[in-house]
Amino acid sequence: MNWLAQQDPEVWSAILQEAARQRDGLELIASENYASPAVMQACGSLLTNKYAEGYPGRRYYGGCEYVDQVEELARQRAQKLFGAEHANVQPHSGSDANLAVYLAALEPGDVVLALDLAHGGHLSHGMKLHASGRWFRFISYGVRPEDHRIDFDQVARLAREYKPRLIVAGASAYPREIPHARFAEIAHQVGAKLLVDMAHYAGLVAAGLHDNPVSVADYISSTTHKTLRGPRGGLILCRQEYARLIDRSVFPGLQGGPLMHIIAGKAVCFGEALLPSFRTYIQQVLNNAKILAEELLSGGLRLVTGGTDNHLILADVTPLGLSGAQAEKVLAQCAITVNKNMIPFDPRKPADPSGIRLGTPAVTTRGMGPEEIRRIGRWIVQALRSADDPERLAHIHREVLELCQHFPVPVDGLSELWAVRSGGPSPMGSDQQSNFHKVSNAPRSSSPQTPAW
Ligand SMILES: *Cc1c(COP(=O)(O)O)cnc(C)c1O
Repeated sequence: MNWLAQQDPEVWSAILQEAARQRDGLELIASENYASPAVMQACGSLLTNKYAEGYPGRRYYGGCEYVDQVEELARQRAQKLFGAEHANVQPHSGSDANLAVYLAALEPGDVVLALDLAHGGHLSHGMKLHASGRWFRFISYGVRPEDHRIDFDQVARLAREYKPRLIVAGASAYPREIPHARFAEIAHQVGAKLLVDMAHYAGLVAAGLHDNPVSVADYISSTTHKTLRGPRGGLILCRQEYARLIDRSVFPGLQGGPLMHIIAGKAVCFGEALLPSFRTYIQQVLNNAKILAEELLSGGLRLVTGGTDNHLILADVTPLGLSGAQAEKVLAQCAITVNKNMIPFDPRKPADPSGIRLGTPAVTTRGMGPEEIRRIGRWIVQALRSADDPERLAHIHREVLELCQHFPVPVDGLSELWAVRSGGPSPMGSDQQSNFHKVSNAPRSSSPQTPAW
């Protein structure tokens, strides 16, 4: 029974169109992924109805015995997955997880060292408009001009000069492994605590294919929806000594009731990441990123750091005579989704920078491997070199669609109600789009049940 289509065709129609978009395009946004049907089912469950302020076994509401089980499963799986002593699975997002760590570790006005936003940092690492930038004194370190790797001499120098209370490691657009121990060493020398924000590469850590920060970091924050491939949300890991402080900072420090349906999705996600198949998936993500990097390099793009050893690539498109914003638009015309991005020491403005950021987590979830990635890389280069040739772009778009049809996307519990399944004909044309709507509004075969409320 599709309650949503029947009750609210406007919302349903937008969801159907998004479903088609996710299916009929190549998602190369490095921070995106496709959550599994099981994750989506948990997130769409009736757990959304439950208030559970507090923590398992010590809630401010009655009736929490079952959601307690859910949160304990999520916590324990997260601890096992990363080898951490304590996990808090309640942060609503990665940014909120960072704020909770700041609340636990800092006083207003304290000095924090973090990666410059223009060199791949995240807005929750002290952007002027973000609460972190307004309440704390963030000092930025950057990457070296010669090789675009983190400048540890600068980190050490700034640490000695400013005596930060906290050093933040982790990035949103850094294509190399982050050596956590080097940050820890510098933090210890100046009496600072270390926060590792592994939002982007948590899946790599979970798979054992990226340095695990657990043994050297005081606090670890993450998202659960990027390489970890779970529901949209946040996560904090820490040693037992900080457990109470972190828990108090999340609730009641920053948040009220936890999103128990999303926490259920996180439990499912951690369960999936504990399986051997997840390591295989992440290994393929890394292989694919390397192959994509090779194709882009041989097509004449400049890559920040010259390549990648994680899931993402930062490419300077100006050698092809385009800006990042133009490149994003051209690729969008071929249903290839990327985001424009600053490159280190970018001479251009943030609104129209020199680069684009690409990642392989989402296309790898669809099952695409070396052969498909090579084709995608060549299409990207061809498209960027044919920015003024609509026919050429239309041709690439058709090839993209044809490829997408062979690699279905995971879908949510309403999938059986979709008119056009993955692998079916392209819904990008208007006739196909209307087919989507037709079926969503079609009479239902089984007799509708009356809701109990
Ligand atoms: C994505 C990201 C976050 C925050 O994620 P949201 O869930 O969007 O708030 C935090 N830190 C880093 C480094 C990120 O890449």
